[in-house]
Amino acid sequence: MEQKMLLTPGPTPIPPQISSRMAEGMIGHRSNDFNQLMENIQPGLKTILGTKNPVAILSSSGTSALEAAMVNLISPDESIIIIVSGAFGDRFRNIAKTYPFNVHVYEVEWGKAVDPAAFEDYLRSKENIKAVFSQSCETSTAVIHPLNALGRVVKSYNSDTLFIVDGVSIVGGMKFDMETDNIDCLVTGSQKALMLPPGLAFVAMNDAARQKAADNDLPRFYLDINRYFKALEDYSTPFTPAVSLIQGLERVLEIYEEEGIETVFERHRKMRDMLRAGLRSLDLKMLVSDEYASPTVTAFKSSEDELKVIKDRLKNEHQITIAGGQKELKGKILRIGHMGYMFPHDMIRVLAAIEAILSDHRKANYYGRALAAAQEAYYG
Ligand SMILES: *Cc1c(COP(=O)(O)O)cnc(C)c1O
Repeated sequence: MEQKMLLTPGPTPIPPQISSRMAEGMIGHRSNDFNQLMENIQPGLKTILGTKNPVAILSSSGTSALEAAMVNLISPDESIIIIVSGAFGDRFRNIAKTYPFNVHVYEVEWGKAVDPAAFEDYLRSKENIKAVFSQSCETSTAVIHPLNALGRVVKSYNSDTLFIVDGVSIVGGMKFDMETDNIDCLVTGSQKALMLPPGLAFVAMNDAARQKAADNDLPRFYLDINRYFKALEDYSTPFTPAVSLIQGLERVLEIYEEEGIETVFERHRKMRDMLRAGLRSLDLKMLVSDEYASPTVTAFKSSEDELKVIKDRLKNEHQITIAGGQKELKGKILRIGHMGYMFPHDMIRVLAAIEAILSDHRKANYYGRALAAAQEAYYG
């Protein structure tokens, strides 16, 4: 049978070099070998998250890092704003509502990016906001928000207001610079652009955020980030970590070195451009405008019936798995993940399959059309 292809926005395929590194064998987490491993991975992790500060590693899914950002950085009764532009903004909102915070929600139409000027007006209409939470890439709509502009808006409102960013589906596929973008806390997970299985979450905090976490008296235990940063001083972890995933992470970072980090980011942008050109040539509509299109996931629209045909036949006849829409976008879009261990020729394969499906379904001849558009986007 043809090799299966997983083109969902997480989890994503694992390169064989990483699988074999993870299979090399367990090491004790209270050993010099493990401390050495933890020391080895910090520089690469810092580069990928765009920070000079240490990056804490939790052994849990990405949502734990979202929750860790919230419980460490917000104190009881403090006011915060959550930007909700899709299913993951909604998750931030649901986490926030679990705790005794004063939560304001800034709703953005799904599929659109935040307009920084409109957001600034909203922010200025609220008093004493201690933090603003946003996604970088809202995976459910495939939009990227203008982080740099948002960071400036937050800091011009109050330089002490924290800007907290969920980068789960994009860190590793796009350049980050926490200082330049005024990001106080950036979180991500292992199973998206970082080419690892699910199970690790990462939390980067600048000094202001670290201070807030140290002073915060909201009760918490496993997610108390201070424990992780304290242990990290000795290249250790407070609890038994997912050792094999951290072994795999060391190999991930070597791969970034081998390919060159800028080349990795360029590859992601190229895959986005190829897909958008190819899908458009088949008269499929993009959910997101070019300006805010994510380099890691692409969403397109068509009739519910046609989307179902595309998704089902990709899976059943071509062994390619892509994702549908979530919540209010269910039945309205399909999403193709193109992050991590994914290359331009993979875009060619999925576009060729969609050409074939639509040629049959619409009784038309699309052969070569999306491929030509994609090749032009790549080489042109
Ligand atoms: C995948 C994802 C998460 C985390 O999901 P988990 O299932 O907990 O790993 C959070 N935010 C965004 C934007 C995501 O894409």
